[in-house]
Amino acid sequence: MTEHTSMTLLGLGAMGSALGRAWLAAGRPLTVWNRTPGRTLEGAEVAASAAEAVAGARLVVVCLLDDASVGAALDGVDLAGKDVVNLTTSTPDQARARAAWAEARGARFLDGGIMAVPPMIGAPETGAFILYSGSGDLLEQHRDVLGVPAGVVYVGADPGYAALHDVALLSAMTGMFAGVSHAFALLRGTDVAPRDFAPLLASWLTAMSGSVYGVADQLETGDYTKGVASNLAMMVEGNATLLRTAEEQGVSTELLTPFMALMERRLADGHADEGTTGVIDLLAR
Ligand code: NDP
Repeated sequence: MTEHTSMTLLGLGAMGSALGRAWLAAGRPLTVWNRTPGRTLEGAEVAASAAEAVAGARLVVVCLLDDASVGAALDGVDLAGKDVVNLTTSTPDQARARAAWAEARGARFLDGGIMAVPPMIGAPETGAFILYSGSGDLLEQHRDVLGVPAGVVYVGADPGYAALHDVALLSAMTGMFAGVSHAFALLRGTDVAPRDFAPLLASWLTAMSGSVYGVADQLETGDYTKGVASNLAMMVEGNATLLRTAEEQGVSTELLTPFMALMERRLADGHADEGTTGVIDLLAR
């Protein structure tokens, strides 16, 4: 028989339940607690309070709505000697403060950012992964169990780094969603079926995603003209066509114009030979 570290999961929302099901399916004994009683998982031991759930476990995984709910759920709970893994989405500063808070209570702390939606949990072939930062010792000790729901990516000892990476990835995704929304809006009122356009859009976004390596190389070398295939002067000219087409199709340009305005500012500053990397300099305050 394999001996498992005693483990508890606080939070049985959509994500907490998915995580719990993955551990139970992998044969990991699990104690669960949820603020609103009645939410449970088949095969799990249900604790009557967060304090009771924590008391019986070495490894405490927390997946609640936000940082404030973590504070509320663990208020007054004895964390001495516990390994706390907080998979609740937070900001970098919140994660650092929560790490200090947990360590002051005698716990080791690891923060996590889940890069998956619940159906991807426990299904590694979907590419689901969880970013971790904080106690590397904690991670190494529990790597097996933490690797059950999704891939493990450790991004550093600074407990804020998982949240920083998480939010950077989500921010890039937000820009992508904005572009996708504008693209489908352009097709409204035409006889182009969204389902016919979708594969073209997916292929194009996939092909363009490789450009992030070029941006990284330019940032690392400080040479923003390095390897530029489409220069800023050309792209700003091209923006006029994008805006005019939106006008022709009766689509608002409000999602496009903030980024285009930054491209124009960088061009006006004399950087016609760059790509769009110089926009980063305009954003970073
Ligand atoms: P849900 O809204 O489904 O669940 C929220 C959970 O938090 C419930 O268990 C709820 O308990 C609990 N909760 C809320 N407020 C408090 C409080 N004050 N004290 C104690 N418990 C509280 O959210 P998810 O499960 O989807 O998300 C959980 C975390 O996972 C979030 O931080 C989210 O950002 C992150 N995440 C979610 C993803 C998703 O697609 N769902 C993707 C990636 C990350 P109760 O049942 O009593 O309301």
